Amino acid sequence: MPAWAFDALPCDNQPMAAELTCQAHVSREPCTGGQIESVRVEAPRAGEVRVKVAAAGVCHSDLHMVDGHLSQDDFPLVAGHEGAGVVEAIGDGVLDWAIGDRVAFCFVPACGTCTPCLEGQENRCEPGLRASFASVLTDGTSRMHDMAGGQLKQFLTIGCFGEYTVVPEQGLVRVPDGLPLWQAALIGCAVVTGVGAVRNAAGVAHGDSVCVVGCGGVGLQVIEGARLAGAAAIVAVDVSEAKLEAARAHGATHGVIGTDERPGRQVRELTGGGVDHAFEVVGREETIRIAWDSLKTGGGAVVVGLAPRGTHAVLPALEFLTAEKSIRGSFYGSGRPRREIAQLAGLAEDGTLDVGRTISHRTNLAGLEAALQRLREGVGSRTVLILDPGSPARSQPDLNHRRERHVEYLIAHAADRVHASRGLERSGL
Ligand SMILES: [Zn+2]
Ligand SMILES: [Zn+2]
Repeated sequence: MPAWAFDALPCDNQPMAAELTCQAHVSREPCTGGQIESVRVEAPRAGEVRVKVAAAGVCHSDLHMVDGHLSQDDFPLVAGHEGAGVVEAIGDGVLDWAIGDRVAFCFVPACGTCTPCLEGQENRCEPGLRASFASVLTDGTSRMHDMAGGQLKQFLTIGCFGEYTVVPEQGLVRVPDGLPLWQAALIGCAVVTGVGAVRNAAGVAHGDSVCVVGCGGVGLQVIEGARLAGAAAIVAVDVSEAKLEAARAHGATHGVIGTDERPGRQVRELTGGGVDHAFEVVGREETIRIAWDSLKTGGGAVVVGLAPRGTHAVLPALEFLTAEKSIRGSFYGSGRPRREIAQLAGLAEDGTLDVGRTISHRTNLAGLEAALQRLREGVGSRTVLILDPGSPARSQPDLNHRRERHVEYLIAHAADRVHASRGLERSGL
């Protein structure tokens, strides 16, 4: 058989996955609330994976999206971008995942070859972000449709407010067996965003002082990150006494009620002149100002909160010089989210990082609208939707399947390599 004939071999001897129908929360228009509908989820295409969603966190970004604060165009939409589940089907050419793998989602599927990726800023991957911000997969389309055949956008390439979703293979991270999927669900947004802002954007050092303005799901993980970094003082600021309590449970050393007069000055008084690092985790003009006002001379503020379009921050510009204060933003941990999600999942598994305590409510898909309303009212830190209560506690990957796929892929592409090496020989390299 000539070498090229291998190309005709199928790359996968498993039966082809078929389209399936499941339940998902669909937002048809901004601001009008969503409803649970039957939706069709296509089989994964080449380079894609279909996941049976076990759990999904309800993040403020989901609320901003469904309320139309980010886009008016990406509707109808299945929101949800922070979740975990089990691989149910894989598309052609996918070698790293097997059916039965337990996975968490990463909403920037980094290409690994664009300039930001090569510079170690995979959170800013150009094609990954283009797809993510358009709420489609990397080929510009979605795998979800309503029963009439209309396309449903998948928020940030994921759309995990449903029982199944299809994502790019680069949008997944393995979950260790010791970590429950309802906790793993939070790693791919709240945890990597919060801890990454501390590590990569601010570079908090042992003994530094920190202020965290906004103690929701991400804010609590900023506090976790500061604790892990060895911060000496961690001042939590929030309008809710209950959230300050949660902040103390995660390691905050002080709490300041944000509605009191001049909270920034209170932080300065508590810390003997201000903090080294202030994190804003709300996305509002007034909270950015509190973070700025809590800094000591030479301190730096990091804005992590997602501000609705049209929000502007006003700062006393003289303090850039007279107090050498600085400010920057941090998106999705400011580093290599996929690698860091894997590492943070390990820390959560061994208990070094506390994820479970960040979760204030657990519910099912029917409880999503109430969870979004809690976010509007600032009640609770994080709701997790349990979409599959029977999800396995351990990975059960079909290893034989994975091995066969590798062998078949190597055989199928052997001819390409022969041609390529001959080309190199001819070119004299
Ligand atoms: Zn999020
Ligand atoms: Zn890239």
